[in-house]
Amino acid sequence: MGEPLYRRVVVKISGEYLAGAQPFGIDQSVLDRVASDVIDATARGIEIALVVGGGNIFRGVDVSSRGVSRPTGDSMGMLATVMNCLALESAIERKGKSARTLCALVMPQVCELFTRKTALRYLSEGRVVLLAGGTGNPFFTTDTTAVLRASEIGAQAVLKATNVDGVYSADPKVDKNAKRFERLTHSQAIEGGYKVMDATAFALARETSLPIIVFSIAESGSIGAILDGTGRGTIVAG
Ligand code: UDP
Repeated sequence: MGEPLYRRVVVKISGEYLAGAQPFGIDQSVLDRVASDVIDATARGIEIALVVGGGNIFRGVDVSSRGVSRPTGDSMGMLATVMNCLALESAIERKGKSARTLCALVMPQVCELFTRKTALRYLSEGRVVLLAGGTGNPFFTTDTTAVLRASEIGAQAVLKATNVDGVYSADPKVDKNAKRFERLTHSQAIEGGYKVMDATAFALARETSLPIIVFSIAESGSIGAILDGTGRGTIVAG
């Protein structure tokens, strides 16, 4: 067998995905399946850090109509990511794999503060690391968090899990003529304005020369397949 494609990756899981068919919250069966997929992927000896979104519970942009400022709304969104990380940490540990949540926000009674060194130590000990609280700043997203943390910890790629098998020229669920891209540069992804990931995330990835692989997590084993190089996804790189 040749060298594995990656030694360390960051996998981004959207909060919305964790809701399953529910309008909000966490679907336990989805959570358990994601946990199994992550554990299966680590069996390759690859270090995996997870960034989990919060859209299934709260998004900062949704609060302007409720008299809450955007920064306060974003704080609520970041807290939602902590809830999701703790739920996924528990699901992973219930299945027998050690996991640790590290948070960008200080909340010592709940979980440890993220530092690069702590994340690297836990990863080297074979634990799954969950990165909660986004970047810790308003006006950012967990997509940008994934790229930021991957760059900080020297990950070789961000695996962006979605409901579709890559980046399309338009929403493939709405437009049957939407074209799927096999490969894009970061600049093409930004210029195309594709909805799959925000431009800030692509711009930071361009700056740090970090590949992003956009793939569907709908099938069991999809994270492992991407790591093996047999999965289907769009590579955004160079
Ligand atoms: N958020 C933030 N700063 C960050 C990351 C997230 O303020 O660095 C807030 C923001 O309000 C966002 C919410 O947390 O809407 C949930 O994150 P995101 O929308 O990325 O979740 P996803 O779409 O992946 O479920």
